[in-house]
Amino acid sequence: TFQALLVEKGADGAVSANIRELEDSRLPDGDVTVAVEYSTLNYKDGLCINGKGGLVRTFPHVPGVDFSGTVEVSDDPRYRPGDRVVLTGWRVGEIWWGGFATRARVKADWLVPLPETISTRQAMAIGTAGLTSMLSVIALEKAGLSPLKGEALVTGAAGGVGSVAVALLARLGYSVAAVTGRPETADYLKGLGAETIIDRAELAEASSRPLESERWAGAVDAVGGDMLARVLKQMKYDGAVASVGLAAGAVVPSFTVIPFLLRGVSLLGIDSVMRPYDQRVDAWNRIASDLPMDKLEAMVVEHRLSDLPELANLILDGKVKGRVVVDVNA
Ligand code: NAP
Repeated sequence: TFQALLVEKGADGAVSANIRELEDSRLPDGDVTVAVEYSTLNYKDGLCINGKGGLVRTFPHVPGVDFSGTVEVSDDPRYRPGDRVVLTGWRVGEIWWGGFATRARVKADWLVPLPETISTRQAMAIGTAGLTSMLSVIALEKAGLSPLKGEALVTGAAGGVGSVAVALLARLGYSVAAVTGRPETADYLKGLGAETIIDRAELAEASSRPLESERWAGAVDAVGGDMLARVLKQMKYDGAVASVGLAAGAVVPSFTVIPFLLRGVSLLGIDSVMRPYDQRVDAWNRIASDLPMDKLEAMVVEHRLSDLPELANLILDGKVKGRVVVDVNA
């Protein structure tokens, strides 16, 4: 048997999440069984635990978009018992049973072998949020960004994606400006390497001007909404913005193409969920070499499976700071 956070739908349509002991025969029909050690919490997990956003189609369901652990049984020649692996994305935890459990059975194609220097706990301190930050930085570099070009901006900075992006960019030598709506996180963000803290209110409102003063060479945007339009208008000539998230909304009411046409600004779409295997391996290797692990530890708060229903509501309210690591065996 194994333990899992099981999301169930009652006859009245109400969704509830409880820890349950389940038979192994209930695991989905994958080709690798993993003894899960750690999982984490993403905004999407908040939605899945509450049955919101239409992500979970079949109940009962085990959420958990990300997990790390050790292979127990493998029907695939690429993996053997004892191998340390990480899984992020592929809609695991949404349409496939995920990592909020002590055991998971998945397709070998979805796994990535963990780089030797990253522990299973660190892998979940990184999680989809960290992988996505790394993918954003790689995309910005491909678009020509370098520390010599000027300051890099991170929005939603005290969140999971934002925190890792701040630490990565600072480590790579960028002067980082961090946008946050939580002024009390200023010391935390400076500790991660941010040089400048910008109040969310300065960028949250739409501006009627087609362009503003040129300020940022590159940006990682976890917020979307009108903030993304403001950031685009403040980009330097030839600058690039990685669009990662939608914490303030998917629609950008004040969007204009003027920054593209008059300043050659690029908007880069970042998807981590369906990212091909080779690019995942490259990104995990870059994380191993470029992410300062002491800064990563400063972002972590550790929890257990039974804490998740409460944490789910906090992340939906934008109240989780940094990265949650879930010790599923605690
Ligand atoms: P998170 O930890 O909740 O961080 C989001 C942060 O955005 C919050 O901490 C907050 O930062 C800021 N924020 C929240 N509501 C806001 C609002 N109304 N206006 C402005 N800022 C707001 O979530 P996360 O895991 O980092 O994910 C961030 C976003 O990226 C989410 O939208 C998520 O769905 C998306 N995402 C996308 C991918 C991908 O593959 N593209 C992967 C992972 C995540 P401050 O308190 O510092 O202001």
